[in-house]
Amino acid sequence: MRLANINGRLVLRAADGFIDVAKASDGRFGPDPQSVYACWPQFSTWVQAEARAQDGLEIIEPGIEAVWGPPVPSPRQIFAIGLNYRDHARESGVTVPEEPPVFTKFPTSLTGHLRDITLPEGSVDWEVELVVVMGSTCHRATRDTAWQHVAGLTLGQDLSERRLQLAGPVPQFSLGKSYPGFAPLGPELVTLEEFDDPDDLELGCNLQDDEVLQKGRTSDMVFDVPELIVRLSAVCPLLPGDLIFTGTPAGVGAGRSPQRFLAPGDVLVSWIEGIGTLTNRMVSA
Ligand code: ZN
Repeated sequence: MRLANINGRLVLRAADGFIDVAKASDGRFGPDPQSVYACWPQFSTWVQAEARAQDGLEIIEPGIEAVWGPPVPSPRQIFAIGLNYRDHARESGVTVPEEPPVFTKFPTSLTGHLRDITLPEGSVDWEVELVVVMGSTCHRATRDTAWQHVAGLTLGQDLSERRLQLAGPVPQFSLGKSYPGFAPLGPELVTLEEFDDPDDLELGCNLQDDEVLQKGRTSDMVFDVPELIVRLSAVCPLLPGDLIFTGTPAGVGAGRSPQRFLAPGDVLVSWIEGIGTLTNRMVSA
């Protein structure tokens, strides 16, 4: 199953477009894309049993005017993990962590596919990341059951203004990574059965001139998805619709020589195997 948020409404991908979930379910699910995570098992059952069998449903083909919102627009919690790929820890000049460094991206930083992002003053960097979407409440999960709590996977950018992020006397990860638009997400949420191996997906990003900035594999994470769910849920109950940004591979702008950051007019194209391509244009304030 592949879900998206088009014009603020939850839609389900069909063979040749999208189906509006609220219309197809006679109002049982949707239209708010966030609402479905609170009743994820029932929604999944409905999709398997009914949505795919229904003929004659209106198919939406999003045109150029369509607004792609984040597939998870208002999560209660967003967790993000720093330094979760060895080569990124190396380029950042720090040792590989023994405990995952955790921060948040505040929910007002979420945006969607094909949306402009206003660059604040400073040095704004890219970080392509696999994003986990929780499908059930989970407290003190074990590795064996961790994946069962996941609704699906999507793609995000953990955009980061490095000056504020690294300002003293203590770093400001959560604030420096939470300007409006600093968490583009999507274009779709993809459920686990769509992947051959959800623990091993190629991911990367490039700019409009086709220069590859980052390219890696999620199998290179220091703490894989089950381990992150175990460690986060050992402290915080994870709630349906919560997000986990799982960290970025090497190739960020701050790790380059010379350093390079995003500029107005840059088009950032991010992708993950089996999920899709997320495109955002940077604009000046
Ligand atoms: Zn990150």
